[in-house]
Amino acid sequence: MRILLLVASLLGSVGVGTQASAQAPSRSLAPVIDLHVHAGAGREGSPYYEVYDGETPDDAFLRSALADLDTNGVVLAVVGGPAAHAERFRAAAPDRFLGAVAFPCTGGQDPNLQQCFEGGGDWPDLGWLRAEAEAGRVSALGELYNVYAGVPVDGAEMAPYIALAAEHDLVVLAHADAGPPPEGRRPGCCPNFDGSLGDPAHWGPVLERHPTLRLVLYHAFRPEYVESAIGLMDRYSNVVVETSPMTRVPTPLVHAALARFAEAGHGDRVVFGSDYPGAVAGSLAVIESAPLSEAQKRAILYDNAARFLRLGEADEDEGP
Ligand SMILES: [Zn+2]
Repeated sequence: MRILLLVASLLGSVGVGTQASAQAPSRSLAPVIDLHVHAGAGREGSPYYEVYDGETPDDAFLRSALADLDTNGVVLAVVGGPAAHAERFRAAAPDRFLGAVAFPCTGGQDPNLQQCFEGGGDWPDLGWLRAEAEAGRVSALGELYNVYAGVPVDGAEMAPYIALAAEHDLVVLAHADAGPPPEGRRPGCCPNFDGSLGDPAHWGPVLERHPTLRLVLYHAFRPEYVESAIGLMDRYSNVVVETSPMTRVPTPLVHAALARFAEAGHGDRVVFGSDYPGAVAGSLAVIESAPLSEAQKRAILYDNAARFLRLGEADEDEGP
């Protein structure tokens, strides 16, 4: 989850610019897949709201995001968020975006205080979600805000959604971290916040029931959770990790996590996620300075995600 306040100063990392497209590209534009992009400009007071003239904030944000992805060579992104916002992104560039629906929400709002569903509520309607999946507009569930909502991933409330993901082969995008700390949350966000629910180990019982589920563990940089993630990866080949938010977490922590995944034999299951907005260029720089081989870095930026998303396989799978 992008959290737009105070985290940079808290963690002593670099700032998050809203105008990454204004930066000179510092890298060759080899293709990148970003599995962690957020839609929606937020509400009044957000840095992404009302920063442009002549457009609605959400339209301006979409235009800015597309330019930012272009600048940084991002050819495909999984975009999650409030359902209407994610669909606006996907519909504007259906070859560029795979749509995802974020939940569970709290008081009808996501952690950036955006309304999650047009009809209100904290959960997507299952019939609607099924129809969206069958129509190809929804390819993933997430970002899953269990930590923010205080709802266990392996509990009864989540079960029908996980079953739907398994049935329709939807990718599951989990906020799998204990943070952000209170200073990093929007005022008014998340009275039920429970960081312990971010431990990747909570996905163990879920994967026992659905062993082929395609799961992305977001924010896998915290040492103890890195070990939890590796425990899942050892058992389930469809679990991958990313290490966002790389512009807000100390780089040595991210580099240690990346090295640990490689050492554990899972370098081919680390994918790139920026936790967009505004974080693509800075996140790419963290990967490119990592203590990994050039081949490993290239795999993180594209190949691992392409394999996980099964790009190019659809035609081959379609029989007569
Ligand atoms: Zn996120």
